[in-house]
This record gives sequence, structure tokens and C-alpha cells, in this order.
Amino acid sequence: MKQTLPPLPQISGQFELIDTHCHLDMAAYQSDLDSVIESAVQYGVKRIITIGIDYPSSRQAVNIANQYANIFATIGFHPHDASQATIEALKELAELAQNRSVVGYGEIGLDYVKNYAPRDVQIKVFKQQLNLAKDLNLPVVIHDREAHEDVRNLLRSVGPLPKGGVMHCFSGDVQLAQEMIDLGLHISIPGVATFANAHALQEVIRFVDLRHLLLETDGPFLAPVPYRGKRNEPKLLLYTAQMVAKIKQLSIDTVAQATTTNAVRLFQLPETTTNDPR
Ligand SMILES: [Zn+2]
Repeated sequence: MKQTLPPLPQISGQFELIDTHCHLDMAAYQSDLDSVIESAVQYGVKRIITIGIDYPSSRQAVNIANQYANIFATIGFHPHDASQATIEALKELAELAQNRSVVGYGEIGLDYVKNYAPRDVQIKVFKQQLNLAKDLNLPVVIHDREAHEDVRNLLRSVGPLPKGGVMHCFSGDVQLAQEMIDLGLHISIPGVATFANAHALQEVIRFVDLRHLLLETDGPFLAPVPYRGKRNEPKLLLYTAQMVAKIKQLSIDTVAQATTTNAVRLFQLPETTTNDPR
């Protein structure tokens, strides 16, 4: 039986969202990437930042970004892949960063849920990459799962990040959100915000000023309600924007405008919204 899902929210012609965190290089999009990007644009998600997690995926992110004028890339070693981040590999990433479609460094950070790489390696590589991002003059995209205290301490120890950054898929409480904002970071809201039990995240949305918020899908993972459990993709960002608007009692246009302005400023995106090839 075909499942009937509610229509996506109605949007105006001027409406623009930016999906600041998606993994377009992953196998989940291999067969229909063009239509994923096209339908995102139709639903107002006019620009997408595709995120690298290791060297091959960073290179692939750059390749995709070079094919579409509305896609941008970040590069980095995810904490899961920290063991691969040799000095040589970091040098290769620094070279990749010279590509003009690279707008950020990450995702980098600590993951104490999966622990695919030993914690001491994760910490060492996170620190190296924070410093590399500074050298490269790029904002950072930070992954933090159950590692709040160590992430906070490391960020403090490396000192100010001149280009700022974002706590991607934020999973902390209001207090951590404030501490990260004080460190110059944005708070990125994933589709998890639409889950019925996401009380802490909904509280964070209520508390944090719109000027510090970004929106992301983290596709293909974490699809928002009513697509929970299915493949996530950039167009579904509308549900997250709608939830943020509902919680903050603002219009979806206001949320779109503010979060898009934040993303453009943080990642220094050029003013282009077409999807013509570069
Ligand atoms: Zn991610």
C-alpha cells in the first residue's frame, strides 16, 4: 500500500534555504544525484554544502561541487576515520583546499558513541585539523557525539577560530549551545528537531537567537518526520525549517532568510543561486 505523506510546506518564489550539511558523495545518491539536487532547488533549498569525511570523500565532494554552481564542499577527516589522517594525508587535504569550491574544513571532531578510532587518536587528529583549518583560513564543521567536555576543552585550548564554525547536528543542551556560541560557533539544527522526543534540541531552538542558527539535513541520514527512517535528502530541509519556525513562533520565510544569511556569511558563499554548470 502506498503511504500518503503530507505535502511539503508552501513556499514563495523568493524563498531560499541552504542545506549546510549533506553527504552527496555517498552511495545513497549515486543513481539520482541530478534529480536530488534539482528537486531540492524546486523546494527552495537552493544551495547545498556537501561534506567530506576522509580523503576520497573530500575529493569526491570537491568534484561534485565543481559540477554544480550551487553546491559547495568541505574537506576533512571525520573522527571515525581519524586513524587515516597521517601527516601526508593532511597535506593532501590542504592541497585540495586550494580548490575554489571548498568553503569549510570538516567534518572533524570526536565521536565517543562509536569509537571507531581510539579516543587518543581522535583527540590528536581533531586538534591537528583545528589548527590546519586556521592555517587554511576556513570555518570548521564540528562533529560531537557524547564528547561535549573534550570538544569544549580542545576548542578552548586551540584558541579563537578566526573564521568561526558550526556545531553540526547539535546534540547538547542549552548551556552547551551558549558556550559554543561564546566560542564563535553556530548551532546547526538537523531533522532530529522534528522527532517527538527531541525535547532538549527543541529547547535549544527556543533559546538560541536566530542569528546563531543554521539548518542541515545530514543526508542521507536522520530524515525528519514524516520521512523518519527513510533516505534523507536536501529538499526535506523544509520540514526542519518549518519546525524551527513553529517553535520560535516565526514565519518559515523569516527562518529561511535568517539561516541563509548566516550560512552565506559563515561559509562566505558567492551570491549565486543558479545550478548551471560552472
Ligand atoms: Zn555528517
